[in-house]
Amino acid sequence: MHAHAVERLQLETDLRRAIDRQEFQVRYQPIVVLATGAIVGFEALVRWHHPQRGLVAPTEFIAVAEETGLIVPLGHWVLQEACQQVANWQVRFPFCQPLTISVNISGRQFSQTDLMTQVSQILQTTQLAPGSLKLEITETVLMENSEPAIAMLLALKTLNIQLYMDDFGTGYSSLSYLHRFPIDVLKIDRSFITTIDTNSKNSAIVQTIITLAHNLGMQVIAEGVETAVQHTQLNQMGCEYGQGYLFSKPVSAAVITTLLTQQYHC
Ligand code: C2E
Ligand code: CA
Ligand code: CA
Ligand code: CA
Repeated sequence: MHAHAVERLQLETDLRRAIDRQEFQVRYQPIVVLATGAIVGFEALVRWHHPQRGLVAPTEFIAVAEETGLIVPLGHWVLQEACQQVANWQVRFPFCQPLTISVNISGRQFSQTDLMTQVSQILQTTQLAPGSLKLEITETVLMENSEPAIAMLLALKTLNIQLYMDDFGTGYSSLSYLHRFPIDVLKIDRSFITTIDTNSKNSAIVQTIITLAHNLGMQVIAEGVETAVQHTQLNQMGCEYGQGYLFSKPVSAAVITTLLTQQYHC
Protein backbone atom coordinates (compact mmCIF):
# COMPACT_ATOMS: atom_id res chain seq x y z
CA MET A 1 0.00 0.00 0.00
CA HIS A 2 2.76 2.42 1.05
CA ALA A 3 5.00 1.48 -1.88
CA HIS A 4 2.08 2.02 -4.20
CA ALA A 5 1.43 5.50 -2.79
CA VAL A 6 5.09 6.46 -3.12
CA GLU A 7 5.20 5.26 -6.70
CA ARG A 8 2.05 7.14 -7.54
CA LEU A 9 3.47 10.34 -6.03
CA GLN A 10 6.66 9.90 -8.03
CA LEU A 11 4.66 9.43 -11.20
CA GLU A 12 2.77 12.63 -10.46
CA THR A 13 6.00 14.59 -9.85
CA ASP A 14 7.54 13.27 -13.06
CA LEU A 15 4.37 14.02 -14.99
CA ARG A 16 4.46 17.64 -13.85
CA ARG A 17 7.90 18.11 -15.37
CA ALA A 18 7.36 16.01 -18.47
CA ILE A 19 5.76 18.68 -20.68
CA ASP A 20 8.54 21.22 -20.11
CA ARG A 21 11.14 18.52 -20.63
CA GLN A 22 9.52 17.57 -23.92
CA GLU A 23 9.10 13.94 -22.97
CA PHE A 24 5.76 13.54 -24.75
CA GLN A 25 5.29 12.51 -28.31
CA VAL A 26 2.21 12.08 -30.47
CA ARG A 27 1.71 8.87 -32.44
CA TYR A 28 -0.72 8.71 -35.35
CA GLN A 29 -2.97 5.77 -36.14
CA PRO A 30 -4.58 5.73 -39.61
CA ILE A 31 -8.36 5.63 -39.99
CA VAL A 32 -9.35 4.00 -43.28
CA VAL A 33 -12.42 3.71 -45.50
CA LEU A 34 -13.37 0.03 -45.09
CA ALA A 35 -14.62 -0.30 -48.68
CA THR A 36 -11.37 0.92 -50.28
CA GLY A 37 -8.65 0.86 -47.63
CA ALA A 38 -7.88 4.55 -48.33
CA ILE A 39 -6.53 6.57 -45.41
CA VAL A 40 -8.83 9.47 -44.51
CA GLY A 41 -7.17 10.61 -41.34
CA PHE A 42 -5.47 9.73 -38.10
CA GLU A 43 -6.16 9.49 -34.39
CA ALA A 44 -3.59 11.27 -32.24
CA LEU A 45 -2.40 9.08 -29.35
CA VAL A 46 0.04 10.42 -26.78
CA ARG A 47 3.21 8.61 -25.68
CA TRP A 48 5.46 9.40 -22.73
CA HIS A 49 9.17 8.67 -23.01
CA HIS A 50 10.18 8.63 -19.36
CA PRO A 51 13.94 9.19 -18.91
CA GLN A 52 14.28 6.17 -16.57
CA ARG A 53 11.25 3.99 -17.20
CA GLY A 54 11.26 4.23 -20.97
CA LEU A 55 7.95 4.23 -22.80
CA VAL A 56 4.99 4.59 -20.42
CA ALA A 57 1.57 3.56 -21.78
CA PRO A 58 -1.27 6.11 -21.66
CA THR A 59 -3.30 3.62 -19.65
CA GLU A 60 -0.69 4.11 -16.89
CA PHE A 61 -0.61 7.90 -16.79
CA ILE A 62 -3.81 9.34 -18.33
CA ALA A 63 -5.83 8.49 -15.20
CA VAL A 64 -3.24 10.20 -12.94
CA ALA A 65 -3.13 13.19 -15.28
CA GLU A 66 -6.91 13.34 -15.13
CA GLU A 67 -7.08 13.19 -11.33
CA THR A 68 -4.40 15.84 -10.84
CA GLY A 69 -5.71 18.14 -13.56
CA LEU A 70 -2.42 17.81 -15.47
CA ILE A 71 -4.47 16.44 -18.36
CA VAL A 72 -5.51 20.02 -19.14
CA PRO A 73 -2.05 21.32 -20.15
CA LEU A 74 -1.15 17.90 -21.60
CA GLY A 75 -4.34 17.73 -23.66
CA HIS A 76 -3.73 21.26 -24.90
CA TRP A 77 -0.22 20.29 -25.97
CA VAL A 78 -1.48 17.18 -27.84
CA LEU A 79 -4.16 19.21 -29.62
CA GLN A 80 -1.67 21.89 -30.67
CA GLU A 81 0.95 19.36 -31.80
CA ALA A 82 -1.49 17.16 -33.74
CA CYS A 83 -3.21 20.09 -35.50
CA GLN A 84 0.17 21.54 -36.51
CA GLN A 85 1.34 18.20 -37.85
CA VAL A 86 -1.75 17.61 -39.96
CA ALA A 87 -1.68 21.20 -41.24
CA ASN A 88 1.92 20.52 -42.37
CA TRP A 89 0.91 17.29 -44.12
CA GLN A 90 -1.93 19.10 -45.89
CA VAL A 91 0.54 21.66 -47.27
CA ARG A 92 3.03 18.99 -48.29
CA PHE A 93 0.46 16.63 -49.83
CA PRO A 94 -2.10 19.06 -51.27
CA PHE A 95 -3.35 16.68 -53.93
CA CYS A 96 -4.72 14.06 -51.60
CA GLN A 97 -8.16 14.53 -50.10
CA PRO A 98 -7.63 16.75 -47.00
CA LEU A 99 -6.42 14.53 -44.17
CA THR A 100 -8.23 14.71 -40.87
CA ILE A 101 -7.08 14.44 -37.28
CA SER A 102 -9.03 13.07 -34.30
CA VAL A 103 -7.94 14.17 -30.85
CA ASN A 104 -9.08 12.66 -27.54
CA ILE A 105 -10.65 15.14 -25.13
CA SER A 106 -10.74 13.94 -21.51
CA GLY A 107 -13.57 14.56 -19.07
CA ARG A 108 -11.64 17.32 -17.31
CA GLN A 109 -10.81 19.12 -20.53
CA PHE A 110 -14.37 18.78 -21.71
CA SER A 111 -15.72 20.54 -18.64
CA GLN A 112 -13.27 23.45 -18.95
CA THR A 113 -15.19 26.55 -19.84
CA ASP A 114 -12.39 27.84 -22.06
CA LEU A 115 -12.17 24.68 -24.22
CA MET A 116 -13.90 26.59 -27.05
CA THR A 117 -11.36 29.41 -26.88
CA GLN A 118 -8.45 26.96 -26.81
CA VAL A 119 -9.72 25.04 -29.83
CA SER A 120 -10.39 28.15 -31.90
CA GLN A 121 -7.00 29.64 -31.01
CA ILE A 122 -5.22 26.45 -32.08
CA LEU A 123 -7.17 26.36 -35.36
CA GLN A 124 -6.11 29.94 -35.95
CA THR A 125 -2.41 29.54 -35.16
CA THR A 126 -2.05 26.28 -37.10
CA GLN A 127 -4.26 27.45 -39.99
CA LEU A 128 -5.97 24.06 -39.97
CA ALA A 129 -9.44 24.09 -41.55
CA PRO A 130 -12.04 23.30 -38.84
CA GLY A 131 -13.43 20.57 -41.11
CA SER A 132 -10.18 18.65 -40.64
CA LEU A 133 -10.43 18.49 -36.86
CA LYS A 134 -12.47 15.84 -34.99
CA LEU A 135 -12.78 15.70 -31.23
CA GLU A 136 -13.33 12.33 -29.52
CA ILE A 137 -15.28 12.35 -26.27
CA THR A 138 -16.12 9.10 -24.53
CA GLU A 139 -19.65 7.87 -24.15
CA THR A 140 -19.14 7.79 -20.37
CA VAL A 141 -18.12 11.46 -20.14
CA LEU A 142 -21.10 12.49 -22.25
CA MET A 143 -23.65 10.40 -20.36
CA GLU A 144 -22.40 11.33 -16.88
CA ASN A 145 -23.52 14.89 -17.24
CA SER A 146 -25.67 14.91 -20.30
CA GLU A 147 -27.30 18.36 -20.15
CA PRO A 148 -24.08 20.42 -19.84
CA ALA A 149 -22.42 17.97 -22.26
CA ILE A 150 -25.04 18.67 -24.93
CA ALA A 151 -24.54 22.43 -24.44
CA MET A 152 -20.76 22.09 -24.83
CA LEU A 153 -21.12 19.90 -27.93
CA LEU A 154 -23.49 22.43 -29.52
CA ALA A 155 -21.01 25.21 -28.77
CA LEU A 156 -18.15 23.22 -30.32
CA LYS A 157 -20.29 22.52 -33.39
CA THR A 158 -20.46 26.27 -34.06
CA LEU A 159 -16.72 26.07 -34.84
CA ASN A 160 -17.56 23.64 -37.69
CA ILE A 161 -15.55 20.78 -36.25
CA GLN A 162 -16.88 17.22 -36.10
CA LEU A 163 -17.58 15.36 -32.88
CA TYR A 164 -17.05 11.66 -32.25
CA MET A 165 -18.49 9.55 -29.44
CA ASP A 166 -15.60 7.34 -28.33
CA ASP A 167 -15.67 3.84 -26.79
CA PHE A 168 -19.33 3.41 -27.67
CA GLY A 169 -20.89 0.42 -25.95
CA THR A 170 -18.70 0.41 -22.85
CA GLY A 171 -20.70 2.90 -20.80
CA TYR A 172 -24.30 2.87 -19.78
CA SER A 173 -25.76 4.58 -22.77
CA SER A 174 -29.29 5.63 -22.49
CA LEU A 175 -30.51 5.01 -26.01
CA SER A 176 -33.31 7.50 -25.50
CA TYR A 177 -30.62 10.17 -25.08
CA LEU A 178 -28.43 9.27 -28.01
CA HIS A 179 -30.36 11.32 -30.57
CA ARG A 180 -30.03 14.44 -28.43
CA PHE A 181 -26.24 14.53 -28.76
CA PRO A 182 -25.02 16.45 -31.82
CA ILE A 183 -22.53 13.68 -32.65
CA ASP A 184 -21.29 13.02 -36.19
CA VAL A 185 -19.61 9.66 -35.70
CA LEU A 186 -19.86 6.72 -33.29
CA LYS A 187 -16.69 4.78 -32.56
CA ILE A 188 -17.59 1.22 -31.61
CA ASP A 189 -15.30 0.01 -28.84
CA ARG A 190 -12.68 -2.60 -29.62
CA SER A 191 -14.18 -5.05 -27.11
CA PHE A 192 -17.10 -5.64 -29.52
CA ILE A 193 -14.93 -5.91 -32.61
CA THR A 194 -12.48 -8.47 -31.14
CA THR A 195 -15.06 -11.28 -31.13
CA ILE A 196 -17.26 -10.15 -34.00
CA ASP A 197 -16.06 -13.08 -36.16
CA THR A 198 -16.47 -15.74 -33.46
CA ASN A 199 -19.47 -14.64 -31.44
CA SER A 200 -22.73 -14.32 -33.36
CA LYS A 201 -24.48 -12.46 -30.54
CA ASN A 202 -21.74 -9.87 -30.55
CA SER A 203 -21.96 -9.47 -34.28
CA ALA A 204 -25.73 -8.94 -33.93
CA ILE A 205 -25.03 -6.16 -31.42
CA VAL A 206 -22.52 -4.52 -33.75
CA GLN A 207 -24.98 -4.67 -36.66
CA THR A 208 -27.64 -3.08 -34.45
CA ILE A 209 -25.31 -0.26 -33.37
CA ILE A 210 -24.39 0.45 -37.01
CA THR A 211 -28.04 0.53 -38.10
CA LEU A 212 -29.02 2.70 -35.14
CA ALA A 213 -26.19 5.16 -35.84
CA HIS A 214 -27.17 5.41 -39.52
CA ASN A 215 -30.82 5.97 -38.63
CA LEU A 216 -29.73 8.83 -36.38
CA GLY A 217 -27.63 10.33 -39.20
CA MET A 218 -24.26 9.30 -37.77
CA GLN A 219 -21.40 7.46 -39.40
CA VAL A 220 -19.47 4.63 -37.74
CA ILE A 221 -15.79 3.82 -37.06
CA ALA A 222 -14.88 0.35 -35.81
CA GLU A 223 -11.93 0.37 -33.37
CA GLY A 224 -9.39 -2.41 -33.04
CA VAL A 225 -9.84 -4.15 -36.40
CA GLU A 226 -7.15 -6.85 -36.36
CA THR A 227 -8.17 -9.46 -38.93
CA ALA A 228 -9.23 -9.54 -42.57
CA VAL A 229 -12.38 -11.44 -41.57
CA GLN A 230 -13.39 -8.64 -39.18
CA HIS A 231 -12.69 -6.11 -41.95
CA THR A 232 -14.90 -7.95 -44.47
CA GLN A 233 -17.68 -8.48 -41.98
CA LEU A 234 -17.75 -4.82 -40.87
CA ASN A 235 -17.75 -3.68 -44.48
CA GLN A 236 -20.71 -5.95 -45.24
CA MET A 237 -22.51 -4.56 -42.20
CA GLY A 238 -22.27 -1.07 -43.68
CA CYS A 239 -19.67 0.29 -41.27
CA GLU A 240 -17.90 3.18 -43.06
CA TYR A 241 -14.51 3.36 -41.37
CA GLY A 242 -12.05 1.23 -39.46
CA GLN A 243 -8.98 1.62 -37.34
CA GLY A 244 -6.74 -1.11 -36.00
CA TYR A 245 -3.54 -3.12 -36.20
CA LEU A 246 -4.72 -4.74 -39.47
CA PHE A 247 -4.16 -1.37 -41.15
CA SER A 248 -1.46 0.10 -38.89
CA LYS A 249 -0.41 0.50 -35.28
CA PRO A 250 -0.06 4.08 -34.02
CA VAL A 251 3.25 5.32 -35.51
CA SER A 252 5.45 8.42 -35.39
CA ALA A 253 4.85 11.41 -37.66
CA ALA A 254 8.05 10.54 -39.55
CA VAL A 255 6.68 7.10 -40.46
CA ILE A 256 3.42 8.64 -41.71
CA THR A 257 5.37 11.17 -43.79
CA THR A 258 7.28 8.31 -45.45
CA LEU A 259 4.04 6.43 -46.05
CA LEU A 260 2.35 9.45 -47.65
CA THR A 261 5.45 10.16 -49.75
CA GLN A 262 5.40 6.60 -51.12
CA GLN A 263 1.67 6.71 -51.72
CA TYR A 264 1.82 10.02 -53.61
CA HIS A 265 5.31 9.64 -55.15
CA CYS A 266 6.70 12.96 -54.01
P1 C2E B 1 -8.72 5.08 -27.17
O1 C2E B 1 -9.05 6.52 -27.37
O2 C2E B 1 -9.84 4.11 -27.21
O3 C2E B 1 -7.60 4.74 -28.27
C1 C2E B 1 -7.52 3.52 -28.94
C2 C2E B 1 -6.52 2.59 -28.28
O4 C2E B 1 -6.59 1.32 -28.89
C3 C2E B 1 -5.07 3.05 -28.45
O5 C2E B 1 -4.34 2.65 -27.29
C4 C2E B 1 -4.62 2.22 -29.67
O6 C2E B 1 -3.22 2.04 -29.73
C5 C2E B 1 -5.33 0.93 -29.39
N1 C2E B 1 -5.56 0.15 -30.60
C6 C2E B 1 -5.85 0.60 -31.83
N2 C2E B 1 -6.03 -0.42 -32.69
C7 C2E B 1 -5.84 -1.56 -31.99
C8 C2E B 1 -5.87 -2.95 -32.33
O7 C2E B 1 -6.13 -3.35 -33.46
N3 C2E B 1 -5.62 -3.83 -31.31
C9 C2E B 1 -5.32 -3.43 -30.06
N4 C2E B 1 -5.07 -4.37 -29.13
N5 C2E B 1 -5.30 -2.13 -29.70
C10 C2E B 1 -5.54 -1.20 -30.65
P2 C2E B 1 -3.33 3.63 -26.55
O8 C2E B 1 -2.61 4.48 -27.55
O9 C2E B 1 -2.54 2.81 -25.60
O10 C2E B 1 -4.29 4.60 -25.74
C11 C2E B 1 -5.11 4.09 -24.71
C12 C2E B 1 -6.12 5.13 -24.26
O11 C2E B 1 -5.44 6.23 -23.64
C13 C2E B 1 -6.93 5.73 -25.40
O12 C2E B 1 -7.96 4.87 -25.76
C14 C2E B 1 -7.40 7.01 -24.74
O13 C2E B 1 -8.49 6.75 -23.90
C15 C2E B 1 -6.19 7.38 -23.88
N6 C2E B 1 -5.39 8.38 -24.60
C16 C2E B 1 -4.37 8.22 -25.47
N7 C2E B 1 -3.90 9.42 -25.91
C17 C2E B 1 -4.65 10.36 -25.29
C18 C2E B 1 -4.68 11.81 -25.32
O14 C2E B 1 -3.91 12.48 -26.03
N8 C2E B 1 -5.61 12.43 -24.53
C19 C2E B 1 -6.50 11.71 -23.75
N9 C2E B 1 -7.38 12.39 -23.01
N10 C2E B 1 -6.51 10.37 -23.73
C20 C2E B 1 -5.60 9.71 -24.48
CA1 CA C 1 -10.11 7.67 -28.89
CA1 CA D 1 -11.77 4.49 -28.31
CA1 CA E 1 -11.24 1.91 -26.44
